[in-house]
Amino acid sequence: MTDYAIDIQALSKSYGPITVVNGLNLKVAKGEIFGFLGPNGSGKSTTMRMLCGLLPPSAGDAWVLGYNIRTQGKQIRPRIGYMSQRFSLYEDLSVAENLDFFASVYGVTGPAAQKRKQEVLELTHLSGREKQLAAFLSGGWKQRLGLACSLLHNPDLIFLDEPTAGIDPVARRELWDLLFALASAGKTLFVSTHYMDEAERCSQIGYIYLSNLIVAGKPGDLKNSHGTPESGWRRVEISGEPIMKAYNLLQGRSDLRDVTFFGQSLHALLENSLPEVELLHWLETQGLNNLQFRQIRPSLEDVFLDLTRLADRERHA
Ligand code: ADP
Ligand code: MG
Repeated sequence: MTDYAIDIQALSKSYGPITVVNGLNLKVAKGEIFGFLGPNGSGKSTTMRMLCGLLPPSAGDAWVLGYNIRTQGKQIRPRIGYMSQRFSLYEDLSVAENLDFFASVYGVTGPAAQKRKQEVLELTHLSGREKQLAAFLSGGWKQRLGLACSLLHNPDLIFLDEPTAGIDPVARRELWDLLFALASAGKTLFVSTHYMDEAERCSQIGYIYLSNLIVAGKPGDLKNSHGTPESGWRRVEISGEPIMKAYNLLQGRSDLRDVTFFGQSLHALLENSLPEVELLHWLETQGLNNLQFRQIRPSLEDVFLDLTRLADRERHA
């Protein structure tokens, strides 16, 4: 038995000639909130389905709670919760009826089922809405009910595949608060998302891009080890008006790189030999005299964007 909740070794999945998960290596310790980040189509759902013992790998192996995903799917499934990306509630059933249904699916019956139902209702703040039809719940409340359903058999490890996709920012934050509550109760969470800001909330993260795990670690460590731009460049934030015109102008220069929008400002890498005053002066000659530059530390999004660009450059080299 390993001490890891999840131990993945060179795990791959191919469909015909196309590899959608490529030699993934990863360990997730018990009690972590592991954030599995990556853009759409990068292989997150495929990886999660393999880890749940629902999809056979093409190569490599993995152990979940000490059980092998190829041969011990039957032991894994009762011990994990899995909220799939397009999980479906029964829309014409009430909150309570959905919970009853999923409890019976998980083999939780009798007085234990009633007790557990009350616990998950309280945990997900659904108490009081038992009689409401699932169809009439908002997106955020539907996700909570989905989460509640996946917790009925009290699993130690929960896989959540993009639980915050398509819900509003307040509901997203509330759902994350619930995930923290679960983690502090000792659960291990494996959460996929394509929202980069959610990465900052996780204790560990992995970033998958075009089927390859590009980096994994603690958010702070990643910022320290990968956040420093290549030598000869410094990272700056550019703010002011009109930012769109600045963006277009700056993109045309070779002594600036990776110009990207961050809200109302821009982040870019600036060549060390280029003094900011010189650049400001040039912008003034182009009619832009209301911009500010500031040297900054990278966000995790900067780190992921850097690594993505690096991976693209290597692919095309
Ligand atoms: P993500 O969850 O990160 O958006 P997926 O794991 O769903 O990514 O998909 C990764 C890639 O694998 C996508 O390009 C997708 O089209 C492809 N894919 C997924 N399932 C199948 C399948 N059954 N047959 C062929 N290709 C598939
Ligand atoms: Mg997916």
